[in-house]
Amino acid sequence: MIPQGPLSQKIFTVAKQYIPGGVNSPVRAFRNVGGEPFFVRRAAGSRIEDIDGKHYIDYIGSWGPNILGHAPVVITNTIHEVAKSGVSFGIPNMFEVEMARTICEWVPSVEKVRMCSSGTEATMSAIRLARGFTKRDYIVKFNGCYHGHSDSLLVAAGSGALTHGEPDSAGVPKSFAEKTIVLSYNDPEALETLFAARGEQIAAIIVESYPANAGLVFPKPGYLELLSSITKKHGALLIFDEVMTGFRLGKAGVQGLENLTPDLSCFGKVIGGGLPVGAFGGRAEVMDLLAPIGPVYQAGTLSGNPLAMAAGLAQLRELERRSGFARLESLGAHFENGLRQLLEAKGVPHRFNRVGSMFCLFFADRDIVNVDDVMKQDLEFFRKFFWGCLDKGIYLAPSPYETGFISLAHTEPDLDDTLTVFEEVLGEI
Ligand code: PMP
Repeated sequence: MIPQGPLSQKIFTVAKQYIPGGVNSPVRAFRNVGGEPFFVRRAAGSRIEDIDGKHYIDYIGSWGPNILGHAPVVITNTIHEVAKSGVSFGIPNMFEVEMARTICEWVPSVEKVRMCSSGTEATMSAIRLARGFTKRDYIVKFNGCYHGHSDSLLVAAGSGALTHGEPDSAGVPKSFAEKTIVLSYNDPEALETLFAARGEQIAAIIVESYPANAGLVFPKPGYLELLSSITKKHGALLIFDEVMTGFRLGKAGVQGLENLTPDLSCFGKVIGGGLPVGAFGGRAEVMDLLAPIGPVYQAGTLSGNPLAMAAGLAQLRELERRSGFARLESLGAHFENGLRQLLEAKGVPHRFNRVGSMFCLFFADRDIVNVDDVMKQDLEFFRKFFWGCLDKGIYLAPSPYETGFISLAHTEPDLDDTLTVFEEVLGEI
């Protein structure tokens, strides 16, 4: 642990007086790494400056949305321009139609889409819709997958819930949690056994398309196909939570990479350009059950907000213009090659999982296929590594259960500088 600068320390003391734990989202508190957070003053491109004037290369990017880097001019200019005509209307506007059209064009499984204001709302609404469509109550989720903090989904959750050792939350009635069946990820037998016994009760499987809230884990070959076929066979829906992977790994997210067609998909992060956004969409037949034309109620004062829609569209257009996904893959590969060489040369036991611009380094000597493996990594080593890097100006997620992000603002020299710091830190541990 290193103490943060004097201003950050001072403000955190005040923050704790007025905000529970001093933060508005738990992982930000740095508790898992045994310390306190810094406060940000400003950020641009791949860099963050804290209020004490210290600079960092950032590998979190606001936890995913900032795929172009911090404060890209295309987004800040768009927000300035659009705001001159109004910041919220609660009346249909053109940007939300353009956003819906773009999502449907980029993601073939999505015929219709509804916007909301967070990933949590997107998954919560998709679950309600699946229950309304199938007229069944039970849902299936996987241990360590995080889908936001709605009651049904805060069961065996990942991300902050894991970080704080509370994968289940107090305040969720047992009768709600009982409707959520939790399975181990990457275990086809468990899935087949469950569906053989209770298939006709299950409304949906919800899955992080590539689980990225308990480190970063990939499906075994054929596993996602099994999710698809088993739901189809039993009349349940398959919901892909692409809040993190959507519009980050390609135009159609993981479903595009894996050539799969989920019934419903959830999005957020990148499509808001850094403003609060979520979305869920899928087959028209299912989506048309939503109010006002169907019986499943879902709504939002700020849903389709013009600033968020315009900022998100500016981000998507810029990604397309710059062939962003190919560039991000090339940056990711550069980082991976350098890191693998370094860790092998140093003889540090590790697994490095990466897809495009998403990565997770595990200090572990076994393959990581589910949350049980993730929990067995060397957490003390991670803590030392995290603080060593932060001290030298590299900002990694303050938890071993989070995925790192590279942005289009990162350069090869940024990545090489980061690897140099990694080398120094590993030498000091
Ligand atoms: N689903 C996934 C896969 C996520 O990673 C997250 C947030 N990290 C959410 C849902 C919830 O999104 P939000 O924090 O915007 O509510």
